Amino acid sequence: MRIRAAEVTELRWRLAAPLRTSRGAIHERRGLALRLIAESGAAGLGEASPAAWVGAEDLEAARASLEEIAALCGAGAAWAERDLADVLGGRLTPAAAAALDGALLDLAARERGLAVADLLAASDAPARRAAASVAVSALLVEASEPAAAREAAARAAQGFATCKLKVGEPSPEADLRRIAAVSRALPPSARLRLDANRAWSAAEADRFFARLDASRVEFVEEPLADPVPAALAALRDRHGIPVALDESIASAAALEELAAARALDVVVVKGARLGGLRPAFRLARRARDLGLGVVVTDSLEGPIGMAAAIELAAALPERRRAVGLAGARLLESAVVPAWLRAARIALPCPRPSLPAGRTEGLDA
Ligand SMILES: [Mg+2]
Repeated sequence: MRIRAAEVTELRWRLAAPLRTSRGAIHERRGLALRLIAESGAAGLGEASPAAWVGAEDLEAARASLEEIAALCGAGAAWAERDLADVLGGRLTPAAAAALDGALLDLAARERGLAVADLLAASDAPARRAAASVAVSALLVEASEPAAAREAAARAAQGFATCKLKVGEPSPEADLRRIAAVSRALPPSARLRLDANRAWSAAEADRFFARLDASRVEFVEEPLADPVPAALAALRDRHGIPVALDESIASAAALEELAAARALDVVVVKGARLGGLRPAFRLARRARDLGLGVVVTDSLEGPIGMAAAIELAAALPERRRAVGLAGARLLESAVVPAWLRAARIALPCPRPSLPAGRTEGLDA
């Protein structure tokens, strides 16, 4: 497979409802799509929509990286994947590297008549196939207690067995009241994920954990503003509530350090932060070997990034947890195809295509 051209397309979407996080509210998403074209004429798509609010690169840095790829591929020569990787080396930003990795995998899968998830699964063990379907968690975005309870009940009725709440603002007391209201609205078997996005001091987190009814809590994600391993380990030891880390796991080395300190129970794996599906897959496999839980999520991306998250989760063997697709809840229905809004997604994912002449979004 040799690449003869690359195109970069701007993506820009207004959210259907603002996403309130402890890092502020997000009203719109901007990103970039990378389309690689092989000598055969086949095309592969990847997405770079960096989550700058949790420390990812900004959009302009990702754009500069993708334009470097486009310039190389448009210079007349056709590039083998390995040569492209050698020339670009470690210069790409993580989201741009993820877009390149995703587009290369998409292209390789198309040329071989396979699904991306099966290609990834086979990289682990040649005979292994990806899962036939993957469960998805529902992000709850309503701010008031009654509205959040209604939203939780509606998602449960749609078949979502796991819900996620952003916490950490406006106050731990308000969070606890909203969590209690949501818990009362959910069936007994439903699970709840809480994500503080590093909102609290160690003392604040301690008070929150002490007062939290954790009976249905799957984990609390990124509780500490200063996530030093010893402080996270102390929080886990004191309260026995599972801790997940997301933005703290920016590399394989970070995972090793935090796991050695017993600072976490669950790793939240995002391809856009880790440089693509293949590095994210390797990190998830390592986390499993370390005895940690693995949750795959998107980075509030468009349909290309969401499909990639589903493919990554499906490629992982056993003990598969619900995938987080924030984009499926928050982007308009004109952007997100109905199959990405379901509580369970069947594979293979039909890869979205870029509509000609538009930069407002993608169709299915
Ligand atoms: Mg998170």
